[in-house]
Amino acid sequence: MKIFTTKKEISDYFNRKPVKVIGFVPTMGALHKGHLGLIELAKQQSTQVVCSIFVNPTQFNDPKDLEKYPRPITEDIRRLEEVNCDILFNPQVTEMYADNEKWHFDMGDLEHLLEGKFRPGHYQGVTQVVNKLFNIVKPDVAFFGQKDYQQFMVISKMVEALEMPVKLVMCPIEREPDGLAMSSRNIHLTPYDREHSLILSKTLNWVKENFDINQIDTLQQQAAQMISNEPGVELEYFEIADGKTLHPATPASESVVALVAARVGKTRLIDNVLID
Ligand code: AMP
Repeated sequence: MKIFTTKKEISDYFNRKPVKVIGFVPTMGALHKGHLGLIELAKQQSTQVVCSIFVNPTQFNDPKDLEKYPRPITEDIRRLEEVNCDILFNPQVTEMYADNEKWHFDMGDLEHLLEGKFRPGHYQGVTQVVNKLFNIVKPDVAFFGQKDYQQFMVISKMVEALEMPVKLVMCPIEREPDGLAMSSRNIHLTPYDREHSLILSKTLNWVKENFDINQIDTLQQQAAQMISNEPGVELEYFEIADGKTLHPATPASESVVALVAARVGKTRLIDNVLID
């Protein structure tokens, strides 16, 4: 695997060696099976796969979260080599950002709903870095996880608005055998937190199994109650939303997604499930 840390190295490489289909998997590292699943799918659909590992400061609204974000780069490189990733792009913050850089992307109310409400400015940081990464890597196809459902919608909106020549692919959520959605933040869960974190996936599944489009309010209230009753878990939101707008689902919704965010101990977790 080639490891590049500068924009110039990437552009020189692809100028020397044009590639038919560049597949791209942007990550913040601390790689787990969810990330590796994206790489494997990218391998199937691309000629060369680039993975980026960059803990992007502008998308963190909580400085403590940024500080304690795991950065096991040696282990990450080993994992990427195991799945035959072709290129790792692992830049420093100074390579990606000049001082006092301004960025604003109008993504409408997607910015303020759900995650946007609890993490103000988060999606400005996400679009800022993904825009930069797309300009550097120039991928034909980019792979993102359903785990960050709203993020996928935000990036789709940016790609459409800026007419970026890239196809986006959404990959299913990879879970631990007991249902917990894999996340780089799971390592912060204490054994007690880990046990109680299961309420998130259990409740999402319960909603999926009991789904009735005419009972959305009741289902949502019951789900919120189930999570709030769990010791050590503090619910931020549980929303049964329209899959296209993320506004509350209605009988007219073509697709429905149930989304949850909660603090389990000191760790903030998100999860979601698509409902047919
Ligand atoms: P992150 O490193 O958390 O920024 O995630 C990088 C990419 O991996 C994003 O597109 C995430 O949606 C995706 N991802 C994270 N966790 C999972 C998971 N459990 N299953 C599938 N994709 C995931």
